[in-house]
Amino acid sequence: MNILYDERVDGALPDVDKSALLQALQERLPDLDILHREEELKPYECDGLSAYRTTPMLVALPRNIEQVQGLLRLCHERQVPVVARGAGTGLSGGALPLEKGVLLVMARFNNILHIDPAARTARVQPGVRNLAISQAAAPFGLYYAPDPSSQIACSIGGNVAENAGGVHCLKYGLTVHNLLKVDILTVDGEHLTLGSQALDSSGVLHAIAALSAEYDLRVANVFHAGDGNMHPLILFDANQPGELDRAEALGGKILELCVKVGGSITGEHGVGREKINQMCAQFNSDELTVFHAVKAAFDPSGLLNPGKNIPTLHRCAEFGAMHVHLGQMPFPELERY
Ligand SMILES: Cc1cc2nc3c(=O)[nH]c(=O)nc-3n(C[C@H](O)[C@H](O)[C@H](O)COP(=O)(O)OP(=O)(O)OC[C@H]3O[C@@H](n4cnc5c(N)ncnc54)[C@H](O)[C@@H]3O)c2cc1C
Repeated sequence: MNILYDERVDGALPDVDKSALLQALQERLPDLDILHREEELKPYECDGLSAYRTTPMLVALPRNIEQVQGLLRLCHERQVPVVARGAGTGLSGGALPLEKGVLLVMARFNNILHIDPAARTARVQPGVRNLAISQAAAPFGLYYAPDPSSQIACSIGGNVAENAGGVHCLKYGLTVHNLLKVDILTVDGEHLTLGSQALDSSGVLHAIAALSAEYDLRVANVFHAGDGNMHPLILFDANQPGELDRAEALGGKILELCVKVGGSITGEHGVGREKINQMCAQFNSDELTVFHAVKAAFDPSGLLNPGKNIPTLHRCAEFGAMHVHLGQMPFPELERY
């Protein structure tokens, strides 16, 4: 079967009046460059997978985030599909346009905003070419490691979307392993930031030391250099009444601290029963509901290792009742016992 979008098998797309959409875009975003004539659209009809071609309805070439946001909002209001395109070097048809959709070309976002040689980070717009980052970093003796063999042309936005690899990846990992922070716009134009600029959350060890003092128990922290896991070892004497309880409470506080500074309650060893309460600190009720639904898909009667890994929302409500954050009770919708 042909891989081109086929409404009979891929789902019907809304019928869009091209002239009406063009007019609305021109009225709302008068400075946005939009290509709409047949001969202008031709160069955008495929990516590197050139055996498959579709002429897009319109091509937008925004220059700033406000234009991207405005375009996304308008398309969302009118239920018009949008396909983003970086440099179009993809070999899997990811940037293949739709006849009934807008192609959003990010190529003009080609500025390297900042290079911080000390932190070994660069802040770049999505249309910047992969190789351009290495060229800009070269005077500092640095380079950007994930290098798909298309680095001369491909954009960093396309690299992020495809989690591109390359010959250096065996040593330095894929795109995802070399990203700290990504600013994204959702399909309806909402701005979200994923991650943060910090290499590692600072101050965790100090905060653990403070907790250690508060609970009057010593903590020895060991680390995995390879995967970044931290193992706080809480030293307690099980023969002393109350020390195990204090150790458990301190362990829970350390896990909550890890979540607060952007980490996770477990990098290995799993959740089991030991960390079940802290799952309530890491995930919200919607996420936990999805986890339960996935479990139920395989185990509808709930007989396989019940009570492990995913807390019930009632457990979280009970646990939350003891942990009021910023004056807000977690899971306020649930009845307390
Ligand atoms: C000769 C050659 C060698 C290659 N070698 C490799 C390789 O070794 N490893 C590898 O992983 N790939 C390789 N590729 C494939 C390709 O170059 C990469 O996947 C690259 O990341 C695509 O980047 P692009 O900017 O060209 O993205 P495009 O092809 O334009 O788009 C790719 C996907 O990303 C999306 N996208 C692009 N920009 C954005 C954005 N700003 N926001 C949201 N979504 C966006 C598109 O919608 C599409 O789904 C190779 C390609 C060629 C031609």
